[in-house]
Amino acid sequence: MNDVYLSIGTNMGDRLENLQHAVELLKNKEEVKVVSISSIYETAAVGYTDQADFLNIAVHINTSYSSSEMLKVCQWIESELGRVREFRWGPRIIDLDILLYNHENIETDSLIVPHPRMYERAFVLVPLIEITPAPVGKQLQRAHDIIQQMDCEEEGVTLWQASAGLKITQSVN
Ligand code: AMP
Repeated sequence: MNDVYLSIGTNMGDRLENLQHAVELLKNKEEVKVVSISSIYETAAVGYTDQADFLNIAVHINTSYSSSEMLKVCQWIESELGRVREFRWGPRIIDLDILLYNHENIETDSLIVPHPRMYERAFVLVPLIEITPAPVGKQLQRAHDIIQQMDCEEEGVTLWQASAGLKITQSVN
């Protein structure tokens, strides 16, 4: 089983429903076991700032999927939710990123892990460290060290709904 952390974000339509739908689709995969889901955080958009605020979560899963299969699953969930790629950094119904895949460093044409921008983004790190209170390995330790130095309020990340908000029971596979 592979130990994987995902980041999920949304800033269009019913944002809570989008997160729930994405997690539900993950849980319905026989090859995926959802271990934990962070609280939901609300974040002002970075990059292209003239757009609605995002909701962001981190999800810890165990999966038998390879990293490239997991990327395909993330992209499948994005298309199931009707994501249309308009422009980079623009509004999105749903965005799923692979943050960490075991302790591996992966660099292919389609996948870079750890996610190339994760250490710069408070909206990724805040939910991630919530579900990794005792960091295991260098990559999570780095995430914890960076977040200590960040002013999350200044970064525009606020708690939107505590973790109970996204309790979705694991379907029986
Ligand atoms: P985005 O606009 O964030 O959805 O970017 C998606 C693109 O990033 C896809 O073409 C992926 O192949 C690529 N990508 C590279 N590394 C990752 C990663 N760690 N997680 C998700 N997508 C990735």
